[in-house]
Amino acid sequence: MNCLALEYGDDIVVIDAGMMFPEDELLGVDIVVPDFTYLIDRREKVRALLLTHGHEDHIGAVPFLLAELDIPIYGTAFTLGLVERRLDEHEMMDRARLHTVKAGDRLELGPFSVEFIHVTHSIVQAVALAITTPLGVVIHTGDFKVDPTPTDNEPFDLHSFADYGKRGVLLLLSDSTNADRPGYTESERAVRPRLEEIYSRAEHRLVIACFSSSIHRIQQLLDLAKQYRRKVAFLGRSMTEVSEIAHNLGLMQIPDDTLLRPQDLQSTPRSAVVVVVSGTQGEPMSALSRVAVDKHKQLSLSSGDTVVMSSRIIPGNEKSIYRMMNHMAKRGANLIYGGMSPPVHVSGHASAEELKLILNLVRPTYFMPLHGEFRQMAMHARHA
Ligand SMILES: [Zn+2]
Ligand SMILES: [Zn+2]
Repeated sequence: MNCLALEYGDDIVVIDAGMMFPEDELLGVDIVVPDFTYLIDRREKVRALLLTHGHEDHIGAVPFLLAELDIPIYGTAFTLGLVERRLDEHEMMDRARLHTVKAGDRLELGPFSVEFIHVTHSIVQAVALAITTPLGVVIHTGDFKVDPTPTDNEPFDLHSFADYGKRGVLLLLSDSTNADRPGYTESERAVRPRLEEIYSRAEHRLVIACFSSSIHRIQQLLDLAKQYRRKVAFLGRSMTEVSEIAHNLGLMQIPDDTLLRPQDLQSTPRSAVVVVVSGTQGEPMSALSRVAVDKHKQLSLSSGDTVVMSSRIIPGNEKSIYRMMNHMAKRGANLIYGGMSPPVHVSGHASAEELKLILNLVRPTYFMPLHGEFRQMAMHARHA
């Protein structure tokens, strides 16, 4: 997955170190990480790892990179919070050199001068990188969409992109995930009316599954819980841990008296709770999978409960997700999921018109599409 090295003379900076889950044909393989041989062979040149945001496909391989190279890591507070969680699992926190940056900060690393630029994405505190090199400016967008109405009111920093564009950019590297989708990706705010309708109609328990890192989404679920007088229980290890990281950093506001401990779920009236749960991809040990087959200690579904899948299906996971959803339907749950309109999930990646907007603002001499299937990168190149 995502990992890119920028090299000039005797210096290298690395951008992101992601992992992916294996395709079906890789039997017995748990996770797939990048081949770091190029970096290991040039270890004395590698100055730092720069992280664009905290999704697994960008930070999942950090412990594996750090096991080979003792280099400092730069990222925003939330990104590094998620990295710490991974490093803890590998018992590597004592040796890690983590440096928190925020959008607008600049950093000198050998011949590279790095500026972090705020972008909107399905995770908080995502940044693009503008790296001034002796040959010219390189802009790496990271993952993004251009959300005109972000729920945290932190807009995409188009001005910085335009400023660099005016001064001249050598190379643009840009997210291609939705290059084959026409028009504009909907704002995160677009899910609100649909969720509001679901909250107002649900008679019994409301169980909403989403990615634990989707802090904007979880904040909307918390706000609606307050409005509709439901208590919120976080279920699943990643949901519990990541929401705590976001809350501790002040990135998630939990209204007073809203939280419910999972162990109190069974004793609370079904109409008074919303359960926010991780495990949207049908991972066998996840909280939602266990709820689906009625093997969860604290939650069992019954007829009249509503289950909302507020996330995308990562290609390859269809079978396990549909199997899990069938189990929940057998328990009498009313299932609400993607493809229905208005949406219960919106993408975090820019569609064709947003990609063209960035290309027009930056006007780079060279362009390299990043991130996505090859056909999407090829489409992005054609847009350019
Ligand atoms: Zn990504
Ligand atoms: Zn991402």
